[in-house]
Amino acid sequence: MVENKIIDGKEIASKLRERIRDLGKEFKDQTSITPGLAVVLVGENPASKVYVKNKIKQTEEVGFNSYEYKLDESVKETDLLNLISELNLSSKVNGILVQLPLPKHINSEKILDSILPEKDVDGFHATNVGKLWGGRDTLVPCTPLGCSIMLNKLFDDLSGKNAVVIGRSDIVGKPMASLLLQKNATVTIVHSRTKDIEKICKAADILIAAVGVPEMVKKSWVKKDAIVIDVGINRIEKDGKNKLVGDVDYVDVFDVVSKITPVPGGVGPMTIACLLLNTLNASLSQKSLPGIKLSSLF
Ligand code: NDP
Repeated sequence: MVENKIIDGKEIASKLRERIRDLGKEFKDQTSITPGLAVVLVGENPASKVYVKNKIKQTEEVGFNSYEYKLDESVKETDLLNLISELNLSSKVNGILVQLPLPKHINSEKILDSILPEKDVDGFHATNVGKLWGGRDTLVPCTPLGCSIMLNKLFDDLSGKNAVVIGRSDIVGKPMASLLLQKNATVTIVHSRTKDIEKICKAADILIAAVGVPEMVKKSWVKKDAIVIDVGINRIEKDGKNKLVGDVDYVDVFDVVSKITPVPGGVGPMTIACLLLNTLNASLSQKSLPGIKLSSLF
């Protein structure tokens, strides 16, 4: 059955947002606090503007408050740091997100590390990165968290499974590997300097592609009945049309896989839903309440 092979990120994200709306309401009834997310956008990057618009729209749709800060491309690093200090202190703001990439004259690491770890809903602060690798409860980067939630719907535990992550970025590849390790998978990370990538991928029961190279993963790379999660979002010209494709050649691998996420409609919708989940979890933890267990979501 073709439909059974497709992991429908759009549908899972929609259910997740409904759960978050309900859990957010419970939190509000209990504490009289509406979770609040501050989103900071620097400059005019068109893709960033679209992401920020969607993040704010979905934040409001689940009943949370959103606070948008648009800063000029030429803003001084100190002014951005001052804004983050104010947001760190604000009782209305439970989560802070600074949209990346930042202009070159701003040190992104310094900015991300200036956000209070308990308000760091992107999970990029060094403290949260360390906690994740230590297997402690923390705010986890949204895209790998979304992939993890999709995998959780298929397996409780990944003991005995080989997982291969293509890509070692701080935003996707590394945190994804850490989450897979926590689920007891045997994890390999491959990247641009890895030899025999195809052979390593072919041994994967779970293959996660987060590369940024359109349709790189072909049928010959994929083990029969593997589960393939395609994080890539690439815009290309194909058959005379402008198309969005992943890092996996979806049509080529489809016969071989047991499950696969499409692009669009796979990982993408999960990322923003997980931002909302992180905003709720940040709000709960700031009130010393327990966070939402992923196993209790569906
Ligand atoms: P980065 O560019 O930060 O990292 C890409 C990684 O892929 C690097 O580790 C790089 O290796 C590796 N790589 C690049 N080329 C090759 C190659 N030919 N063979 C093997 N490895 C290679 O990208 P991101 O992690 O930020 O994003 C990856 C993809 O996921 C992009 O398409 C992006 O648009 C998408 N994305 C999607 C999101 C969503 O919500 N669905 C969210 C975030 C990203 P090295 O480290 O050696 O350079």
